[in-house]
Amino acid sequence: MNADAIKSLPGRYCNSLTEYSRFVTREVHIGDVPMGGNNPIRIQSMTTTDTMDTIGTVEQSIRMINAGCEYVRITAPSIKEAQNLAEIKKQLRARGYTAPLVADIHFTPNAAEVAARIVEKVRVNPGNYADKKKFDQIDYTDAEYQAELERIYQKFSPLVKVCKEYGTAMRIGTNHGSLSDRIMSRYGDTPQGMVESAMEFMRICEMLNYYELVISMKSSNPQVMVQAYRLLVETMVAEGMNYPLHLGVTEAGDGEDGRIKSAVGIGTLLEDGLGDTVRVSLTEEPEAEAPVAIALVQRYALRAKGERPKVKGNDGEEKNLSPLTFNLSPAHDPYSYKKRETYEANAFIGGHMVPRVVVDLSHSNLKDPAVLNDAGYIYSPLLDKYQMGEQSVDFVYLADALPSFTFPGNLKQLYNYPTWQKLADKTLCHPVFTLPEYIAAEDRTSALNLVRIKSSDVESDEFGSITLDKSLVFVLETDELHGMADQRTFFFKMEELGLDVPVIIKRSYSLKSEVGSLKSAPDETTEDLRLRTQNLQLYASTDLGALLVDGFGDGIWIDAPGIETKVITSTAFGILQATRSRISKTEYISCPSCGRTLFDLMITTQMIRSRTSHLKGLKIGIMGCIVNGPGEMADADYGYVGSGTDKVTLYRGKEAVKKNINSANALDELIGIIKEDGNWIEQV
Ligand code: SF4
Repeated sequence: MNADAIKSLPGRYCNSLTEYSRFVTREVHIGDVPMGGNNPIRIQSMTTTDTMDTIGTVEQSIRMINAGCEYVRITAPSIKEAQNLAEIKKQLRARGYTAPLVADIHFTPNAAEVAARIVEKVRVNPGNYADKKKFDQIDYTDAEYQAELERIYQKFSPLVKVCKEYGTAMRIGTNHGSLSDRIMSRYGDTPQGMVESAMEFMRICEMLNYYELVISMKSSNPQVMVQAYRLLVETMVAEGMNYPLHLGVTEAGDGEDGRIKSAVGIGTLLEDGLGDTVRVSLTEEPEAEAPVAIALVQRYALRAKGERPKVKGNDGEEKNLSPLTFNLSPAHDPYSYKKRETYEANAFIGGHMVPRVVVDLSHSNLKDPAVLNDAGYIYSPLLDKYQMGEQSVDFVYLADALPSFTFPGNLKQLYNYPTWQKLADKTLCHPVFTLPEYIAAEDRTSALNLVRIKSSDVESDEFGSITLDKSLVFVLETDELHGMADQRTFFFKMEELGLDVPVIIKRSYSLKSEVGSLKSAPDETTEDLRLRTQNLQLYASTDLGALLVDGFGDGIWIDAPGIETKVITSTAFGILQATRSRISKTEYISCPSCGRTLFDLMITTQMIRSRTSHLKGLKIGIMGCIVNGPGEMADADYGYVGSGTDKVTLYRGKEAVKKNINSANALDELIGIIKEDGNWIEQV
């Protein structure tokens, strides 16, 4: 199906683009914890221990369950690990833990068939269940392709029959990085290929009257991941399916970057009412993942629940499959990225410029030049000069506060209009108007005029009398609980009206409903502060990321009173990096580790980061095993992959260029390859 065919389908990918409405899926039975339907969005994670280490795996599973995991996934690379799942399950149940277990399978149908008799759910990767990856490009005729599907049926149907017999659920989990050569040859490395990869397996399950399915479409690139899930929903609906969705961004990395990347991908889909279970993949201890997933999901408990009427499916069962309806702008394609076209204002914002970053310094100490350090301008008292970095903000908002020092020559300052009017020297200073102020203003001599606006203002008479010239930039605000959809509505209205005014998306995190976890308290502990900061990062990444993924926004402004400016600055740049709209640092695609891992991923990631974090724009994959690693790191420029005990294989793109080298020298060798390619710069 080509893009035009997809666009002409009657339904699209969610119930509504403009208000919160959960896409109600079929309920799937997984032990005592059903998923989908009107069940809560479930939380899950995966162990990192060796599956043959029964006690270690049991104890780690317990820590994960205590942290909030409702399902525990454990890798089963071969039959012996699959068999040991019985012992792990027995010991967990003996200790009173009933969370359903999920066996993670790659390449080994025989292990899957053993595991499916033991645990409550198995996960298979359609990219490697029936195929071995050789990176071959093969031109299949339709008859040959059909013969391949028949071969897959023969390999996969025994597992489906076991699952049916034992009441075991199954996740068909496609990964962007591990599509089979067959899918790659026909569909390429695309969201459509990912969807088709899963659909082939789903159709076989339905042929065998097996419906206990959960589906995932993971990628380390949030944009690809979002597009694939959307396309999956549309394709499922067109074929009369509504299986629950397992959401995740693979190899998201660690710390702030891992959280931001996960929230951009997972949060964007949750905003559209998609998702029945969430796994956040961090290169950290697995018990660190559930609290992040819970924070992402709990926001939606506050939002209205939507449900579509039920209809009877082919199997005679009731499904929620009424036609999807929403008012999608004809210019908007949810399955591919296209930046909204805007004019360039003041040769600085909009057009082909990268999205700009605004931070609010109006409550900071504007007598101290070092106050700009947190906005990315490092002040040297000795030289009385500022040094700019890759994460230096573009605008500071000072409201009505006047600084008592001179700002760097390239940093634009924003003032409220009445204060701006009174400035003696307006160089690099620009006014921020309310809509009525802008309409009434007589002296708009600034080259850049920013006007605060809300989605509902577009319907007002005032909006109709606005003067449109190329100095105008909107600052889009919202008071709505489902603010992302409210702001997206504004962009649709702008498209409808044919207005190409650049827009800075502003989100303010002092809304009453969310204030609980973002407000500081006098007796705040370090842990409270960490959680508050984490929540801000997750919320902002969801709300702003969801719009940026769709190509909306010429700038972002995170307003979060009580959160340090340096956190706001790094969060803003992190969101732009995760949405690939502005690259300001090295990207690490590091796997979360599992029972296959051949080195300590956390320590190795930190070690690699410490020497390469200045290589802006490079993507470095850090993978724990050679079985899945090369496939999983998808679009990395370089790869550092565990290939044996103390052995590492280095990749340039998809090509293994140094095999099984000693891990003690591996980082130096990697840097050598980067230097050979001319991609190395010395750290200053
Ligand atoms: S790449 Fe990492 S998470 Fe994936 S199977 Fe290998 S070690 Fe496990």
